[in-house]
Amino acid sequence: MRNSALAAVAAVAAAPALAGLYGDTPDAKHAWAVHDWNRPKPAKVEVDAKGVPSDAIVLFDGTKESLERNWRDDKGNPTKWSYSEEGYFYTVPNWKNGGGIFTREEFGDCQLHIEYRHDPNQLFTNKGPQMRGNSGVFLMGPAYGYEVQVLESYFTSSDLEGKDGFVDNYTDGQAGSVYAENPPMVNPANKPGEWQKYDIVFHQPVWEGDKLVHPGSVTVFFNGVLVQDHWEMEGQTTHCKRRPLKPHPKQGPLHLQDHGCVVQFRNIWCRPLPSRWDNLTHSNMSACPQKVMELRRATAAKLFAKIADPKAATAENVKALAEVVSYANEGEYAEAFQAALAAYRAKPGDANEVKGVNGALDVLVRNKVIPADAKIK
Ligand code: MG
Repeated sequence: MRNSALAAVAAVAAAPALAGLYGDTPDAKHAWAVHDWNRPKPAKVEVDAKGVPSDAIVLFDGTKESLERNWRDDKGNPTKWSYSEEGYFYTVPNWKNGGGIFTREEFGDCQLHIEYRHDPNQLFTNKGPQMRGNSGVFLMGPAYGYEVQVLESYFTSSDLEGKDGFVDNYTDGQAGSVYAENPPMVNPANKPGEWQKYDIVFHQPVWEGDKLVHPGSVTVFFNGVLVQDHWEMEGQTTHCKRRPLKPHPKQGPLHLQDHGCVVQFRNIWCRPLPSRWDNLTHSNMSACPQKVMELRRATAAKLFAKIADPKAATAENVKALAEVVSYANEGEYAEAFQAALAAYRAKPGDANEVKGVNGALDVLVRNKVIPADAKIK
């Protein structure tokens, strides 16, 4: 940032007089104005030495106790998966011997961090690529689930093609794929024996009754590399078939797949996220117009309640009421604003004061909240 810009930021921070009507006003898709001083500040989050945010729900911290507390089998009983004193847990060998593992807590839209590793000595080499350390991270559980594939995929790298050790595979089934839908954009898999990391941002499909409003999305960073770039789900992932999206409960367990292969897991945490549909300041895809207007009305009511005497014909009142109508130019707010403006217009203050009032009115005129001739001559 240039010095002049820094100075401008400092000046704004030191000048609360600039709070109030200032940037472009709320509209049908934005519950807040540009540079809105009424907009709530984000909650503070600390990140610990292990990289875990303070608002994350830790689902496995390396202790047996956290495995037992947070995970279960498909019927709610303690999991049969095994625990290692080295701080990871792993699938029971042999096909479906342990069954899948499920979080006791249920999640919807979320940010998920998970690490996994394949023991090179326990990788099948003769049962086909889909038996090389296959597991999977299922968002919303297996019944409705969206699987981010877990598989030994270092040896499926295109740069190894034709060389010793290369294992061919279908690309929408390798690690980092949204299984059966979309391959990872690149393959950043580490060798077996090394830990792999997924950071997943998941937004479930949004339905209004039987009408699909948005298909939801999966974003995946694989070992820190973006491999799924806000992939909009085509359906519920499954082998061989295109299974269309359909409405389902808004929360479900996180599920790690038992695919008959030994896979180790550690460092698992999850942050529930608000639906993008509830982000009330962002584009056609996300902001729900009815919810935007509800929030604008709530903010208008809060600001209106702070005005001691809405009928007082003062410059401060006109500016305060102008701010109220920038959120909701209707009903008692519109009436109070028009009355205060008319009263002030009949008996305006000095030129400097009028300039301040016109500054606020300018923002409303610029955003077509009020007509241009509403300004004070
Ligand atoms: Mg799988």
